[in-house]
Amino acid sequence: MERTGQCLCGQIKLTINDDNAELDVCHCKNCQLQSGSAYAPFLAVALDNLSVGGDPKSFADSDTVSGRTVRRYFCGDCGSPAYVVVERAPNTAYVFTGLLDQTSDLRPKVHGWTTTKHAWVEITEGGLQYDMDPGLSPR
Ligand SMILES: [Zn+2]
Ligand SMILES: [Zn+2]
Repeated sequence: MERTGQCLCGQIKLTINDDNAELDVCHCKNCQLQSGSAYAPFLAVALDNLSVGGDPKSFADSDTVSGRTVRRYFCGDCGSPAYVVVERAPNTAYVFTGLLDQTSDLRPKVHGWTTTKHAWVEITEGGLQYDMDPGLSPR
C-alpha cells in the first residue's frame, strides 16, 4: 500500500511504497532529543521506496553510543523531524510515523534502547525489546 505524509507546515512531503515496512520504536536519548518526545516511532522503509518532496535539512548526529553517525532529516521551516538514516543500514530510512496519514494498521515490531525508556511508558503490545541497540540489519 502507498502511504503519504507531510511535515507540520507541508513543505516536506513523503510518499512510501513498501509493503514490508515495519514499525520500530526507539527510546534512545538522541531520538528523545530530536523529537522532543518520550520515544520515536519509526517506519523502516527501503530508501528506494521513499520519495521525498521539498527540501529537508539534515543534522549529522555523531555523538552516539556506537560512534556511528546518524543522519537526522527535519523540516527547516516548522521543525518537524522527518526521517533518519543510520550508517549501518544506509539503504533504509526510518520515517517518523507522526508525519504519516495512514497509521491504523501499524503495530510495533521492535522496541530499542529500553534502558532509557521513560518510566511511565508501558510496552503492552508485545514485540521484541532490546535494552540497547536493536541491531538494525542493513537491507
Ligand atoms: Zn515543515
Ligand atoms: Zn534512537
